[in-house]
Amino acid sequence: MKCVFSAPQHKHYPESFLVNGVREQNPEMPGRIDKLLEGAGDLGLDIVTPKDYGLGPIARVHTPEYLEFLQHAYKRWKRIPGAAAEITPNIHPTNRDGVYPASVVAQAGYHMADAGAPITGETWESALNSAWSAIHASELVLDGEKSAYALCRPPGHHAGSDLAGGFCYLNNTAIAAQNLRRKYDSVAILDVDLHHGNGTQDIFYRRDDVLTVSLHADPVRFYPFFWGHAAERGEGPGLGYNLNFPLPRGTRDDDYLVALDKALNRIYAFAPQALVIALGLDAFENDPFAGLGVSTEGFGKIGKAIAERFPGPTVIIQEGGYLCEELGENLASFLRGFREGSK
Ligand SMILES: [Zn+2]
Repeated sequence: MKCVFSAPQHKHYPESFLVNGVREQNPEMPGRIDKLLEGAGDLGLDIVTPKDYGLGPIARVHTPEYLEFLQHAYKRWKRIPGAAAEITPNIHPTNRDGVYPASVVAQAGYHMADAGAPITGETWESALNSAWSAIHASELVLDGEKSAYALCRPPGHHAGSDLAGGFCYLNNTAIAAQNLRRKYDSVAILDVDLHHGNGTQDIFYRRDDVLTVSLHADPVRFYPFFWGHAAERGEGPGLGYNLNFPLPRGTRDDDYLVALDKALNRIYAFAPQALVIALGLDAFENDPFAGLGVSTEGFGKIGKAIAERFPGPTVIIQEGGYLCEELGENLASFLRGFREGSK
C-alpha cells in the first residue's frame, strides 16, 4: 500500500481554538504529520507525492463561492486595519438563503460553522495539498491498486460543500468518494473518527449512490452536537442511505466492534463497488479529546474487520487523531490489521 502525502500540508499552523469560551492552542498541529509518517514508515509504506489536480475534482464537492473565499479571504482580511493574525468568524447568519455577503467579515461568518477552523496565510495551500493527497490515493485505486492511504492534514470530514468547521476546510473523504464515482456506480463511506462526520453526511444526504455510515461519540453532549444522531437517515432519494451509530462516551473495544459489525452489515447490504474509510484515530483511549476508549490493539481489530467484510477497492483517508505518544502506533496498528484482513 502507498501513503500519499505532500510537504506543504505542514504549513498550516492555526493558533486559536475556543474551549468553553477560552482561547487555547489549536490541537490540529503539523506535528501530527510526523507521528503519522512514523506509523506509515513502521509498516514500510512507500511515501508518494500527489500530482497537482487543480480544482476540478474539488469543485465537484465544494461550491465556487466557497472555494474563492478559501483561496482569497486571507489577503482581504489582512487589509482590515488591526485585524487578527488569523480569520475567525464573529457573526453567523441565521438564514443562509438570503443575499451572499460582500465583506470578508460577513463571508467568514457565512462560510465558517464554528471557531475551530481559523484561516491563516498558509491554510489554502495546505488544505489544497491535503485534498490532492486524497485525490491521488483515489486515482491509485481507480488505476487498479487494491487500496491506498492518504495522509490528509488538515482533515476534512466536518467541512460541508460551502462550510469550514472543526479543523476542516476541504472534505477530503467526500472528494475521494466523488472521484471514485467516475468509475464506480456505488461508493460507501465508513467514518470511524471520534466525531461525527457532519460535513460528509450533509454532502451526500440526498443521494443514494454514496452510502454514508459513521460511528462516533454520541453528539447529545459532544461536538458536533447538531448532527450525528441516529434519527438522521437521509432525505429524498437519499432516505436510508445515511446511518449513524452514536456511541456512549468511553466505549471500549468490545462494544465498539459490535457497533462496527452492524455498520459493516449495512455496507455489505449496499454492496458498494468501492469503499472510503474516514480514518480518525481520536477514538483512542488516550487521545486529548478523551471521547471513546479504543485501544491501540483495537484499531488493528477495526482495520481487520473492515477488510475482511469488504474485500473491494478501498481508499483510506486520514481524518482526526491528535498528538499523543501512540498516534503513529495507532495508525500502524490499523493498517496492519487492514492488511491482515485483506489476505
Ligand atoms: Zn475527530
